[in-house]
Amino acid sequence: MNKKLYVISGSSGVGKGTVLKGFLKKNPEFMLSISCTTRKPRPGEVDGVNYFFLSKDEFQNCIDNDKFLEWAEFAGNFYGTKKKYINQCLEQGKDIILEIDTQGALQVKKRMPEAVLIFICPPSYEALENRLRGRHTEDEETIQKRLEQAKIELERAERFDYKILNDDLEKAICALENVINKERNNA
Ligand code: ADP
Ligand code: 5GP
Repeated sequence: MNKKLYVISGSSGVGKGTVLKGFLKKNPEFMLSISCTTRKPRPGEVDGVNYFFLSKDEFQNCIDNDKFLEWAEFAGNFYGTKKKYINQCLEQGKDIILEIDTQGALQVKKRMPEAVLIFICPPSYEALENRLRGRHTEDEETIQKRLEQAKIELERAERFDYKILNDDLEKAICALENVINKERNNA
């Protein structure tokens, strides 16, 4: 059977969103899952495009009603992937990509062992910190929480099917294409 579900994880600020944007530009047939979160929108983020922005009560309601394929708490906010959209895409035979944290990725693998887990690595911890700060989207307290979390995420990388280094952006995008092509051809 074709492997249709790809999960991209990696520390906050490593460049997951940037690599994926480059990949999707070249491969627009892939569907990107839109997650739910209790985090406040960043300037420019749009509800239903970047995330479904939920209140804590709304998020809890989804948990209680078993709406999530996976969910996790990350640096003080909740994030989750709704089952409905994923199932619809898979039923229609579409390839789908989830960009989620490592806790969520491992939950997906448990439920769907055929899912392909891909971890994006930074060239160094310093580069990660510089990217996270350079993005100017988080306050200092949040940056510290995310850097702490980054160490835990890096430890979980060993449990992923593939690791991709995001040093040179174009090379990272090509590496992601290679991994996905390999999985599609081998399946
Ligand atoms: P994530 O989605 O993993 O949190 P982003 O995609 O938002 O990370 O990237 C964080 C910052 O790092 C952004 O400012 C982005 O432009 C920058 N960045 C991403 N990839 C690279 C790269 N290969 N080299 C240098 N900077 C990068
Ligand atoms: P950000 O707040 O920077 O958008 O995301 C913070 C972290 O949450 C990132 O590691 C991102 O991959 C992760 N994330 C985004 N959506 C989901 C989701 O649906 N589930 C889980 N488990 N993590 C998510």
